[in-house]
Amino acid sequence: MNFQYYITLKKEKPLGDKLIKLMDGKAFRDELVKNEFIPRVKGIQEQFQTTPRLTTILVGENPASQVYVRNKIKLAERVGIEGKQINLPENTSFKELQEIIHEQNTNPEVTGILLQLPLPSHLKPFERKAINFINHLKDVDGLTNQNQGALLTGDKGIIPCTPLGILKLLKRYNIPLQGKNAVVMGRSILVGKPMGLLLLREHATVTYTHSRTKNLNEITRRADILIVAIGKPEFVTSEYVKDGAVIVDVGINRNEKGKLVGDVLFEEVKSKASYITPVPGGIGPMTVAMLMNNTIEAFYLQHEEL
Ligand code: NAP
Repeated sequence: MNFQYYITLKKEKPLGDKLIKLMDGKAFRDELVKNEFIPRVKGIQEQFQTTPRLTTILVGENPASQVYVRNKIKLAERVGIEGKQINLPENTSFKELQEIIHEQNTNPEVTGILLQLPLPSHLKPFERKAINFINHLKDVDGLTNQNQGALLTGDKGIIPCTPLGILKLLKRYNIPLQGKNAVVMGRSILVGKPMGLLLLREHATVTYTHSRTKNLNEITRRADILIVAIGKPEFVTSEYVKDGAVIVDVGINRNEKGKLVGDVLFEEVKSKASYITPVPGGIGPMTVAMLMNNTIEAFYLQHEEL
């Protein structure tokens, strides 16, 4: 079959039954930066005579984490948010980490605090404690109990970047959600769980799957919208996908050849999907974009509370 691919933010094309559409997170990120984030930061500067500041805290020298942090700071500076990187040595103790977080919590010039995960192995047992030590109004990753709870109850709070980015991308492409069967693969608090809650809020019928789910592909084949966040390179093949489904691939993995791949076998699944996100260029850029969104939101939340 002769499939055509469109990166469609600029030129919308009709969706024929042999066409699939790529949901282009990179292009949408650029659109958001220009039309939304830069003007909003300028608005804050004009109204409050101050510039929002994002602090990233990285413990150790994990090379992937170093790249992620650099990209976050780079985008922050592009939108006019002040970026500050704190790099701590690998052998930092939990107490030292707490002290650094405390300094950022109490510094009125700091708008957002991002603790880059994963933490080194000796700090792993304290990961949740460290996250919850972040002032929830500065928790731009939306991972504190307070913000996770707010998502559950529908209260105002900060929503984790990846699921929020996915929702915005689906809406950008006018994907209907109400009454649709949405299946979320993965139940982490970073992606899977909050994603399901967001889709539920949009009136989708949500099913979660995880590593112990039985008859997995029977469940995923019922999905109108399939969100895949399992961290398994190219795990989802066409047998997991129904014709015409919308596929969101969150995974970022290196295959045995060192190539960046998602959790979905893109080359096979693309022919069944109506819409699909690429890796790279799909959810990755949306996640970093939502960090900017959340830093701006955090600024307003903090000023409302005063
Ligand atoms: P995680 O904390 O390791 O969680 C993985 C989840 O997948 C777990 O809930 C696990 O189930 C579930 N799982 C494992 N095998 C499964 C299977 N065969 N079927 C269904 N579920 C299965 O990972 P994460 O932090 O959510 O991240 C997932 C992936 O997204 C990773 O590749 C990560 O690098 C990527 N990611 C990308 C971005 C981005 O910006 N694009 C952001 C965050 C994460 P159990 O709970 O039963 O163990």
